Amino acid sequence: MPQTIQKLLSNLPSVDCLLKQIDSIYSHGLAKEATQQVLTQIRQEVLSGTRTVLETENEIIIRIEKQLKENQFSLRRVINATGTVIHTNLGRSSLSQQVQQQVAETSFHYSNLEFDLATGKRGSRYSHLVSIVKKLTQAEDVLVVNNNAAAVLLALSTLTQNKEVLVSRGELVEIGGAFRIPDVITSSGGTIVEVGTTNKTHLTDYERAMTEETGAILKVHTSNYRIVGFTETPDLNQLAKLAHSQKLPLINDLGSGLFLDMRPFGLPYEPTIKEVLEQGCDVVTFSGDKLLGGPQAGIIVGKKEYIEKMKKNQLLRALRIDKLTLSALEATFSLYLDEKEALTAIPTLQMIGLSEQECLAKAEYLAGMLKDVPNLTVKIEKDHSKIGGGSYPEHLLPTMTVSLMSKKYSADHLQEKLRVAGTPIISRIKNDSNLLDVRTIDETEFPMIQKSLMEIFE
Ligand SMILES: *Cc1c(COP(=O)(O)O)cnc(C)c1O
Repeated sequence: MPQTIQKLLSNLPSVDCLLKQIDSIYSHGLAKEATQQVLTQIRQEVLSGTRTVLETENEIIIRIEKQLKENQFSLRRVINATGTVIHTNLGRSSLSQQVQQQVAETSFHYSNLEFDLATGKRGSRYSHLVSIVKKLTQAEDVLVVNNNAAAVLLALSTLTQNKEVLVSRGELVEIGGAFRIPDVITSSGGTIVEVGTTNKTHLTDYERAMTEETGAILKVHTSNYRIVGFTETPDLNQLAKLAHSQKLPLINDLGSGLFLDMRPFGLPYEPTIKEVLEQGCDVVTFSGDKLLGGPQAGIIVGKKEYIEKMKKNQLLRALRIDKLTLSALEATFSLYLDEKEALTAIPTLQMIGLSEQECLAKAEYLAGMLKDVPNLTVKIEKDHSKIGGGSYPEHLLPTMTVSLMSKKYSADHLQEKLRVAGTPIISRIKNDSNLLDVRTIDETEFPMIQKSLMEIFE
């Protein structure tokens, strides 16, 4: 070890000396842990040559206090190495840099959330998304609530209370987290009228089920569930015509809101929001944090006459979206004005769009960074990533993973060690190794993985 480095290391203040100076609002145990963490970080910075001058004792104290705060948060950043892009347990979609800036700007200051700058009078928080969503989907109007479950509930409570709702038997599904279509219809005050059979539902089935009491036809995207083989459902066009002939709305719970054609990335065809509206749907609901790649939200687009009614529903007040989400949503939508920008700037789309070749380059880079970790065997392995969030459930994306194997720890033990690292790393196990799927890991996270593995195996 060069003398300069040795000297720097020996000049580091001791844990006890630093601890005496830490603000006493923190428990001793937490303070000690944070102090040791920061000293380890500094030692590593010195050893790797990124630090050639020591910070002053005061600066180190500030760093420890910052670390203390970080350690205390329960909801924290993690590294998603599972390869599942829209991972519901890991917060679904992560937001883009541009969105982060806009959210900071509007939430760290006052904003015109419910204030009309043109007239100086009270405005509506729901007005901010209207022009951009119209531009992107040609919808007459838009309304946003907390999540898509709330969007479906609001639409049904407004349009089908005390009325019958026609749904195909093949679409009476439960979506993750116990969101059950039959229960949502019932709890919004409607009555379910099951139409057709599990695998085949014809237009005539809907026709026959229509009565004076019918309030709407509901279509539901079956998301993470598929009926394959001998199946049939009527075209949206036909269904819309039928609903309109009785002056009824066709409501479509699309689940994952798609704005771009993803076929160039090898994904099967799924209609975009715009296409579904063109086919005659009157009300379409979808999530903000699935394929759209924005914050958690439920978005309702469609005919003005129906959305106006929803705006007057008391329930809307309870489901109302907050300003941070609204701001993040507007910023996310704005990225879609340029398709190319959306595909690179929105992390969810960017990750889905990565080719096997691009994954290989990332995997080689990460594997290279890990080759000096002692007692660890690092290999590159082909595997498959999932999209997640009920979107494209059967479609697997060919990917490349960095596989970690060690004589020192079993696969389960290493997985746990990764999970409790400074920034937790969530891996998946296959054939007794921990796979780090690079599809969902940002390159800026590679040094964190390297650091954690060095610590685990030091
Ligand atoms: C995901 C999903 C929902 C629930 O949406 P959240 O935003 O999670 O509330 C409802 N319907 C369908 C078809 C879905 O795929």
